Amino acid sequence: MRITILPGDGIGPEVTAEALRVIRSISDVGKIDLEYTFEEIGGSAIRNSGVPLPSETLDSCLRSDAVLLGSVGDPEFDSLPPSERPEAGLLSLRKALGGYANLRPAKAFNALIDSSPLRKEILAGTDLLIVRELLGGLYFGYPRQITSDEAINTMRYNGKEIERCARIAFESAKKRRKKVTSVDKANVLEVSQLWRASVSRLAREEFPEIELEHMYVDACAMHLVTNPSRFDVILTENLFGDILSDESAVLTGSLGTLASATIGGKVGLFEPVHGSAPDIAGKNIANPIGAIESAAMMFRYAFSNSAAADAIEQAINEVLNEGLRTVDIAAGASAISTTEMGQAIAERCGVIYSNKRPVAAKA
Ligand code: NAD
Repeated sequence: MRITILPGDGIGPEVTAEALRVIRSISDVGKIDLEYTFEEIGGSAIRNSGVPLPSETLDSCLRSDAVLLGSVGDPEFDSLPPSERPEAGLLSLRKALGGYANLRPAKAFNALIDSSPLRKEILAGTDLLIVRELLGGLYFGYPRQITSDEAINTMRYNGKEIERCARIAFESAKKRRKKVTSVDKANVLEVSQLWRASVSRLAREEFPEIELEHMYVDACAMHLVTNPSRFDVILTENLFGDILSDESAVLTGSLGTLASATIGGKVGLFEPVHGSAPDIAGKNIANPIGAIESAAMMFRYAFSNSAAADAIEQAINEVLNEGLRTVDIAAGASAISTTEMGQAIAERCGVIYSNKRPVAAKA
């Protein structure tokens, strides 16, 4: 299996190095043959090649089985027009890879429960996954225009676009607690009525074992802060998903621990949710857990290796339970470095994976 690694800018190279350390500990123990190619994107690519997404980078990504990204963004290029800035490289890459489903897990780590803005008893047990449709809806629909006193955007979906994203949500729920909450605004929007009908039909015909509920987006926004543990997989369209995934992100209390996957296209893209954090770059203090969790998602979704993904997630949980903290989650207590956190997780997940991996893989 071939992975293109795009460390990117700011803390991207620091957290990606730790994700790679964890990937290597899994591949060493499991004798998994992984091939790595390192390429540039964002500000580092502009510096060396003049463009934020060089053609060699894109070619390498398209030839890979998965792409692991750190982050992009560099204040040095803030004065450039948007189409030439580092972030434009990531937007072009996402477009070229063609992923239509964005997956964002939000899980309450018991060890970090006090850093959430929610009360402990409300957050306890929260472990949800948002599946957001990424290529359709209001952000892409035509007609779109603006004049001096009127503006138009169009929310548009066809049944096929809804169905392919819903299928990813149902497949994900199969490996979790077997429940999908499909979020829409079907009391007001025709697009949502088609969404609801398409999702219901797919559930009936292909996923009878999954419990499906429909929920209006306003109710969902409320339940996310009053009773987040009621959710397993939340399936929703682009705009609603954009808002709900950021809402769910703050539940867990730390940006540095959050991961994402964009799948369904030619090649899956796995990246932490945070940006390049120029304020802490180069200090070896960034939290690598979001990048490491992104590697777990890569094993789960790109390589169908749930045992490896589970081992990484268990290792993260264990080191947090033992009190290891980077400074962003230390709440004033003593903190370890990015590298130390990566090493602790890598060592632990190697041990867990060697005990847990399927017998056939031990040969
Ligand atoms: P950011 O996520 O980089 O940082 C926000 C705050 O969170 C900062 O105080 C930062 O120190 C902290 N933080 C972020 N990740 C952390 C980690 N792993 N460990 C500890 N602390 C962490 O967001 P921003 O400051 O708005 O943006 C900085 C740059 O990143 C901009 O150029 C922006 O365009 C870019 N950006 C890129 C992505 C991406 O690559 N997907 C996403 C968001 C922002």
